Amino acid sequence: MPGFELFGKEERLEVNDVLESGVLMRYGFDAQRNGHWKAKTFEKAFAKRMQSDHCTLVSSGTSALSIALATAGIGAGDEVIMPVFTFVASFEAILAVGAIPVLVDIDRSLTLDPHAVKQAITPKTKCIMPVHMCGSMANLKALKTICETHKLILLEDACQALGGFYDGKPLGSYGDLGCFSFDYVKTITCGEGGAIITNNNTYAKHAGQYQDHGHDHIGQDRGAESHPHLGYNFRISELNAAVGVAQLRKLDQILSLQKRNYSILRKALLDINGLTFREVPESGIENYSFLSFLLPSEELTRKAHEALSKNGIDACFYWYDNKWHYIRGWEHLKNLKSLGSLSSAIKNKLLELNTADFSKSDAIMSCTLSALIKVGWSEEEMQIRANKMRSTLLNII
Ligand SMILES: *Cc1c(COP(=O)(O)O)cnc(C)c1O
Repeated sequence: MPGFELFGKEERLEVNDVLESGVLMRYGFDAQRNGHWKAKTFEKAFAKRMQSDHCTLVSSGTSALSIALATAGIGAGDEVIMPVFTFVASFEAILAVGAIPVLVDIDRSLTLDPHAVKQAITPKTKCIMPVHMCGSMANLKALKTICETHKLILLEDACQALGGFYDGKPLGSYGDLGCFSFDYVKTITCGEGGAIITNNNTYAKHAGQYQDHGHDHIGQDRGAESHPHLGYNFRISELNAAVGVAQLRKLDQILSLQKRNYSILRKALLDINGLTFREVPESGIENYSFLSFLLPSEELTRKAHEALSKNGIDACFYWYDNKWHYIRGWEHLKNLKSLGSLSSAIKNKLLELNTADFSKSDAIMSCTLSALIKVGWSEEEMQIRANKMRSTLLNII
């Protein structure tokens, strides 16, 4: 996920526009800003690119998720279903609005298992939050059907899947709301940043207000604006937005380089006996930021991971042992290590995690490796890397 690999003069020029006027804020100061509205420019271009009616650019992907939840009216006592394989941001965003994270199994798509989702639904469930991990998507059709049956919100965390498609739609635009991250290691970066997209006019209005202390953004005088509801400050600065404006123009280039390098690696690993690729749901197109594959056992997978790293193949992730992406490493969540006190509803649900059976996810994650795909690797370098990975893996399985 390599936006940072292509940081250059285009980004510097956009940032310089902001530095020259000194208007670092996305709202107001119309006379001083020399016509530069970086956050607004980004929002318009991103909404169009995502084939969505609205985009709200904010301070991070994590805040985007919290805003999306708040926007849809989700709060204290509401349950939000999320996968056990994701980034910690998923439960952080849910806890931040006072809602209850309900963690469920993944399947061989490495994303939410629709059967596990169905079993987790209670009268308190308000939202299903699939996370399109490592560039590929959840079975959105199945999840949407569940949402329609139970009148739930479908919120896509597309932070790691910008540029992918499902059923002809850009990932993030299929559900009621979609969220993106533009932190430093994502497909494109603002340094720090995030976005919420939606076709729902009310959600979009609420998102704009919530991320700016509840400001209604009506009129020319910020101080005189009214506050239709409570909000927070999750604004992005114009400096960060300016970086995003330049990065967004590079998205097609980034995606096509990722696809080229991904395809070289996939071809090299394709006929290795016992190696299978993650399942990509029908009618899904990945963004090619990772190539994830499964080996026949945990033992072989650990051996392969070690051998790859010994042979200089650095960016291969064994998420099963990772502290930030898989439930096994989330001691702080399971042990309720909150600085302040948590509601009893949240505490009770989180304590269940200590005895819950996630052996189905363990069986998948313990056998999965994900190879990061960089855009900076030339075709030749990628071929050498792919051959090295192939011979290393053939030596092991
Ligand atoms: C990066 C990421 C986030 C959070 O984004 P930040 O901008 O870093 O807050 C959320 N979900 C997933 C899946 C991510 O990879």
